[in-house]
Amino acid sequence: MLEVENLQVVYNNAIEAVRNASLNVTAGGITALLGANGAGKTTLLKAISGVLYPEDGKIRDGVIRFEGCDLTKLAPDDIVRLGIAHVPEGRKLFIELTVEENLVVGGHTTNRADIARRLEEIYQLFPQLKNRRTVLSGYLSGGEQQMVAIGRALMANPRLLMLDEPSLGIAPLMAEAIYAAVRRLSGEGGLTVLLVEQNASLALDASRNAFVLENGRVVLDGTSEELKRNEDVCEFYLGLG
Ligand code: ATP
Repeated sequence: MLEVENLQVVYNNAIEAVRNASLNVTAGGITALLGANGAGKTTLLKAISGVLYPEDGKIRDGVIRFEGCDLTKLAPDDIVRLGIAHVPEGRKLFIELTVEENLVVGGHTTNRADIARRLEEIYQLFPQLKNRRTVLSGYLSGGEQQMVAIGRALMANPRLLMLDEPSLGIAPLMAEAIYAAVRRLSGEGGLTVLLVEQNASLALDASRNAFVLENGRVVLDGTSEELKRNEDVCEFYLGLG
């Protein structure tokens, strides 16, 4: 579904954040992208969704193809229309808008007639958001904000959902609820998920396969089961020793 080939991304013409990285995400299921702080995970997601440019980040080389279509020259809106939605690290909600207003903003590429139906689907996935639909999102807990951020991305009706650190700074019970929802989306919902996580054990339990980035390079990949069984991988790359 998504192929990244020899991708190189630099910031300010100097810092090589992603170096010749190649990976592929097959349709269905959850693919995890793991690695330490600064390994290049967020940069890779931003390159896929076309949002590097405001930060002086540039794709210097390589190809990103989604269902055969080259994304590297497309605007972020066009990438959303092709079927990719990105939940950024830190959620980046409009905190002075209500829950529902944030969700509706996420539907800006969606047909007006479909917005009400999508909202209902999101409230079914995260029932607690329905009770809080008129609350300013700045007043929500971190976990609820993450639910809104995921809901906002789902409003675009994506086929590939990219999640950047969905468990970061969230109470463990809320993280579990979010992971349960993501599993449901990819299981019954048939959505393909690319999941960036620093919590390797959470991500490997949820995913079918995984890639490990180190200093901008893909240094390992395999099924999540294989990676979990490999003690060296756990100790050296995933901090699970
Ligand atoms: P984290 O989990 O900390 O976000 P990451 O694996 O997502 O880590 P990136 O955020 O992609 O890593 O960062 C990769 C490298 O690029 C790091 O060396 C980082 O300092 C650098 N970098 C990231 N964003 C910028 C930017 N806007 N300008 C300059 N350098 C950047």
